[in-house]
Amino acid sequence: MTRVEIEIVPDDVWRCLGPAGGAREQLTRDIDWAISEAAELAEPASVTREMAVGAMGRGTVEFDEGLSVNGPMLPHLMEGAQGAVFFVVTAGAEIGLRVSELFAEDRPLEAIVLDAAGSAIAMNAQSHTVNEIATGRKEEGHQVGPCLVPGNEYWDLEGQRTLFRALPAHRIGVRLLDSLQMDPQKSQSALVPFGEELRILDDPASSPCSRCKATRCPMRLEPYEASWDAENLS
Ligand code: SF4
Repeated sequence: MTRVEIEIVPDDVWRCLGPAGGAREQLTRDIDWAISEAAELAEPASVTREMAVGAMGRGTVEFDEGLSVNGPMLPHLMEGAQGAVFFVVTAGAEIGLRVSELFAEDRPLEAIVLDAAGSAIAMNAQSHTVNEIATGRKEEGHQVGPCLVPGNEYWDLEGQRTLFRALPAHRIGVRLLDSLQMDPQKSQSALVPFGEELRILDDPASSPCSRCKATRCPMRLEPYEASWDAENLS
């Protein structure tokens, strides 16, 4: 278990609240209050575990201990991976409890803004953890791929079961519900692939996406450059 350092600013909360139009200025003090309240209540923490990649088949990537992840694009997204770092991060349970109290006290505005600040903290903890994983693996000479999150087009929510089988998430107070949602709700789970020969990278400029015509790919990291074809076919 690792305590995660977080730092949020009003724009992080706005990203979770969505557009406010003309109300933005009026909410400035509420946002500032929510940031300090959330920072007080949050217990941001993470668990991580490195897993070696075994065989890859059609729509399946196998890991240590008989674990596997399934999704049509996952073998492509992990092509060349030697391993992946699985992780769960959380902002803790206290923010969610306080949000429920505020709703019960008929203070919906404060509840909604605090809820958004809690989401911002969970996202900030995720970014911080991904950066640490990427920096560590790059220092070891690996390439690092984009963070892959269950519950997306490329990997359905069943992937949560694999992550929670591999990780001692109970050590940071996170459990997986039958609905495959996490409790506390302000938690995130994902894996980050790495390897010396990894093909799809977290750095858009080094990934092959700009030369790939798969226009509907949900993992595209960079727009397709039609000029690439022209230059290389001439
Ligand atoms: S855009 Fe192409 S190269 Fe990039 S992830 Fe999608 S399929 Fe792969």
